[in-house]
Amino acid sequence: MKILVVNAGSSSLKYQLIDMETENVIAKGGCERIGIRGSNLKHKTSKGEKIIERDMPNHKVAIQLVLEALVDPEYGAISSMDEIDAVGHRVVHSGEDFNCSVLVDDEVLAKCRNNIELAPLHMPANILGIEACREAMPGKPMALVFDTAFHSTMPAYAYMYAIAYDDYKNFKIRRYGFHGTSHKYVSQEAIKYLGKPAAETKIITCHLGGGSSISAVKGGKCIDTSMGFTPLAGVPMGTRSGDLDPAVLEYLAAKKHYTILDCVNYLNKECGVAGISGVSSDFRDLTKAASEGNERAKLALDVFSYDVKKYIGSYVAALGGLDCLVFTAGIGENTSQVRKAVCENMEYFGIAIDEDKNEQKNDGSIHDITAAGAKVKVLVIPTNEELVIARETKELLEA
Ligand code: ADP
Repeated sequence: MKILVVNAGSSSLKYQLIDMETENVIAKGGCERIGIRGSNLKHKTSKGEKIIERDMPNHKVAIQLVLEALVDPEYGAISSMDEIDAVGHRVVHSGEDFNCSVLVDDEVLAKCRNNIELAPLHMPANILGIEACREAMPGKPMALVFDTAFHSTMPAYAYMYAIAYDDYKNFKIRRYGFHGTSHKYVSQEAIKYLGKPAAETKIITCHLGGGSSISAVKGGKCIDTSMGFTPLAGVPMGTRSGDLDPAVLEYLAAKKHYTILDCVNYLNKECGVAGISGVSSDFRDLTKAASEGNERAKLALDVFSYDVKKYIGSYVAALGGLDCLVFTAGIGENTSQVRKAVCENMEYFGIAIDEDKNEQKNDGSIHDITAAGAKVKVLVIPTNEELVIARETKELLEA
């Protein structure tokens, strides 16, 4: 069985074709600058990389080009479209409508359209991608895999904000959480690694990348997560502020003559570690600048690591203990300095890492950096959101 995984953004469309017998990626790539002049498709198979520069006025043209590239006799990966058994789409928000992945039909798509207002930056593009694929591959089974679904098991006391209950009911204002496919993948990998029955496991997963979120996973199910109504909440991120006192908004608006929309844009785009450091949102630049004596870069790294540490502490309390702490995504997998700072002085919780193991480069497999004798396993696990989407699509197809 071969499954095409599609992740459609507003001007991009990333894809992977995965052979489910081996779970190997047989082709992958992405279209950039859809709807903008100078659009191109980068397509990679075992035969090499091909860059196709072509006008892509919309997602429909983009997916058509992807399908052509996949079956191209010279640089393709399959001989005909019939070899694609199903398509799995990444969708950012399920609202309260779906608590698991679903096969798409008109009714499902209508519910997704209703949820556009919950994620206005991402949902329209996700839906364009789905519509384009349905047009280009009529009759092909398609699954929607939601970033929020893994968090749907949170108890009400974890997802409720302390606002008037009617406003939660009427406007769906609550914690949803994001990066669900990543938290699901790495927590499942950790459960396999621990070799215990899933029901007995208590795991904290730290997805630290361009956007970062932390989740508490008990018995394989998410019980709390740091992102909220939107992916702006939780720990500070590349350019996002993370949590702050909501009263800052009114004060900031007055001082900088901002509208509410300006404030939210500012908190999304001009804050986080980039805002504190004035250097960069990229942790490679930050660690380099800090090592060269840049105090604000060091402060940004300290703020970030301290906040991650605080979330871990609070989730140990929420879980009532801890078996395993997982680091994943760009920073979690690569920035040893952050892992070290987060795990420092955590012996009280049974967390301690081996400094040499922590410094070893990740090789794409699970890397155990636990110090000898420490009670809690600390693992670095490369995330694989596309594989989760493909697996869920396969499951739905076989059900
Ligand atoms: P996104 O949320 O954009 O998918 P990633 O998970 O790819 O983000 O994480 C990107 C971040 O990971 C970069 O901004 C950078 O700060 C950090 N990082 C640190 N080292 C590396 C590395 N060797 N490769 C990639 N990203 C790295």
